[in-house]
Amino acid sequence: MSYVFPPAPQASVAVAGSEDRFPVRRIFCVGRNYAAHAREMGKDPTRDAPFFFTKPADAVVMDGETVAYPPETENLHYEAELVLAIGTGGANIAEGDSLSHIWGYAIGNDLTRRDLQLDAREKGRPWDWGKAFDRSAVIGPVHPVAQVGHIDKGQIKLTVNGETKQDSDVIKLIWSVPEIVSILSHSITLAPGDLIMTGTPEGVGPLVPGDVCVVSIDGLGAVTTTIGERAS
Ligand code: MN
Repeated sequence: MSYVFPPAPQASVAVAGSEDRFPVRRIFCVGRNYAAHAREMGKDPTRDAPFFFTKPADAVVMDGETVAYPPETENLHYEAELVLAIGTGGANIAEGDSLSHIWGYAIGNDLTRRDLQLDAREKGRPWDWGKAFDRSAVIGPVHPVAQVGHIDKGQIKLTVNGETKQDSDVIKLIWSVPEIVSILSHSITLAPGDLIMTGTPEGVGPLVPGDVCVVSIDGLGAVTTTIGERAS
């Protein structure tokens, strides 16, 4: 058997303190998982079941890269997020077993074409064009649980050109890390290489060409993204 053209290279992200790479299978994202962010998006925070959307695995962007301002938007937004990296797959994972499925933690920036997302929301259409575009998933190096332990609290912060825009604490997640893994695994079978972006706190806002955006989370360092000119 041979392919009719060469298959795309395996998408991957860095592993902190190692030359090895973490192969990315899928990227799941939790919507509205901090109360103050739900409010700023015009929604009531709720413990109704969380909802998810996805990004393509090959949308990943490494720390230090420049992302060209994406097409078809006039309102590109940043979203600082804690990212879970799944090392052991499974379905119907019990909340008490969730942590054993996590290989590591990373810093993420869920780049969003906010105008397209809100237009889709209004019209009852899928969020894909607002969320799942090329190079929309900034993912820093994955820090193995073996080195950093599990993360259930700690400052999560985002700056643009040195000015603080988001400043919260991971402890404020509406749905905790073990709950997210368990709930997601009841809808789809999780697999090694899956990444889960856990949602952003309040303070989301625009990025324009030339901006330097830095996301930091206690214990995971910082991840820098520069916004380039609009791709022609
Ligand atoms: Mn998000």
